[in-house]
Amino acid sequence: MERINKPASSAALKAPFAKTTSAYWCQHKYLERRWLKTRSFTAVKRLYQSTIEEEQTSMLKRLRKLLGPQTSSEASRIHKDTHPISLYDISRSARKVIQQLKQAGFAAYLVGGGVRDLLLDGNPKDFDVATDATPEQVNKIFKGSRIIGRRFRIVHVRFGREIIEVTTFRGHHDEAKKRGDATQSDKGILLRDNVYGDIKSDAYRRDFTVNALYYDTEDGAILDFTNAIEDLDKRQLRMIGDPDTRYKEDPVRLLRAIRFSAKLGFTIEQATEKPIREHADYLSEIPPARRFEEVLKLFLCGYATAILTKLQDYGLLAYLFPAANDFLNKGTELDKRLLFAVASNTDKRIRQNKSVTPAFIYAAMLWPPLRAEMARLMEEHKLNEYEAMQQAAQGVISQQLAYTAIPKRFLIPMREIWSLQLRLKRREGRRASMLLEHPRFRAAYDFLLMREEAGERMDGLGMWWTKFQSVKEEEQNAMVQELNGKNPKRSRKPRRRRKADGGESGNSN
Ligand code: ATP
Ligand code: MG
Repeated sequence: MERINKPASSAALKAPFAKTTSAYWCQHKYLERRWLKTRSFTAVKRLYQSTIEEEQTSMLKRLRKLLGPQTSSEASRIHKDTHPISLYDISRSARKVIQQLKQAGFAAYLVGGGVRDLLLDGNPKDFDVATDATPEQVNKIFKGSRIIGRRFRIVHVRFGREIIEVTTFRGHHDEAKKRGDATQSDKGILLRDNVYGDIKSDAYRRDFTVNALYYDTEDGAILDFTNAIEDLDKRQLRMIGDPDTRYKEDPVRLLRAIRFSAKLGFTIEQATEKPIREHADYLSEIPPARRFEEVLKLFLCGYATAILTKLQDYGLLAYLFPAANDFLNKGTELDKRLLFAVASNTDKRIRQNKSVTPAFIYAAMLWPPLRAEMARLMEEHKLNEYEAMQQAAQGVISQQLAYTAIPKRFLIPMREIWSLQLRLKRREGRRASMLLEHPRFRAAYDFLLMREEAGERMDGLGMWWTKFQSVKEEEQNAMVQELNGKNPKRSRKPRRRRKADGGESGNSN
């Protein structure tokens, strides 16, 4: 029987976005899936157009490969058919950045947490791009981008609320030190690390193997220079190079080890784990501003509860919140319950996509020393609650600032959350309804509930406020009246003293 040839037009139809038959089918299936899911013709059309754009870039890249120099690479290449990442898992902005860098003749890859989390089936927090373009060259290509950092210069490319972090391939230090591009302190800390190299040296300058995978958008392959895939399979965190030297170079890596092991649920490989406890004191070399940045990442990544336990276990909490650490080690169960209640509440809010503020975390972490100092001042110096709080707050905050910075935009609301803890007790007259309008009421009320839940004696204050917010105005008035009944207000008029001879009654008119 004669075979019927397919009409030529069928091949021509596929041509615009068919590199290979399998690539065509992957893309076709993807578009079909999107259609079935969204039923939005515009969305599918947009995707189809971006597929063509990718194709054009890829063709340019192939030409450039033929003409230009190639990046050195001894990486294992993991073919796109053998891993789950698809080009469309990457944010449009990150794809755009990579595409534009490539169009300008540079190499560009997706790297870091984006690749790691996509391989783990997770949801990347952000997408980072690595390139052979210098920060200045990147800055020129993207209007509105900013070069940030001195120790480690990177470029932030902004797309609305999304920021793509673009880093230039780092090089080896030894040669760079000779040239003066890298400087190190006496203790081995890297003070400046703007030494550029190629993709391979870049991989070895990263912290953990699982953070050093590169995704090539051109052919969908993953480049692995450090046996990261094996570590991903074993679900372990392994430092690239000699762990002790790498922690010394940048002690923030001690905190990163804790954060990633908690976040990913990974064990820390033995040689990577050993120096953490031994060299926790490296952290004292980190300036308070950088420690503050790390506190935000540790407490706002959605795994604060596990992280708090680990920070305490490994002796690192003492370098972030020394007072809270002391209270956790030898304080009461009440403080422990409060700090962990705040951590788990923060995790829950993040999972529910609710807002969280560092002011709240700081208000809680510094509450145990604040409360203890207030009690001392009231007892020993006979100060009233308000005075004691003012004075104690100053001491607690200035001690904390030697460890982590607290920017004013968080310091002020933190102090408001504290002072509202006292004001929430005073509900007479119009006070309660006025407090409801306070911009920090919600945070202060949540904190009050957590203190109560942890076991602080509050005489049902939290419950009172919960009810007060849920009832109508009339009932609110009745609730306040009831309070007045319990604590009758003193008459403003000073009572006249009775005359000794009893000639005048208390009722003057
Ligand atoms: P996530 O964004 O989910 O917190 P991440 O791994 O992307 O995790 P980033 O802080 O965004 O972490 O950094 C991006 C990448 O830069 C990391 O994956 C790592 O390869 C590299 N990196 C970041 N900080 C360091 C460091 N202190 N030392 C070495 N490499 C680092
Ligand atoms: Mg990242």
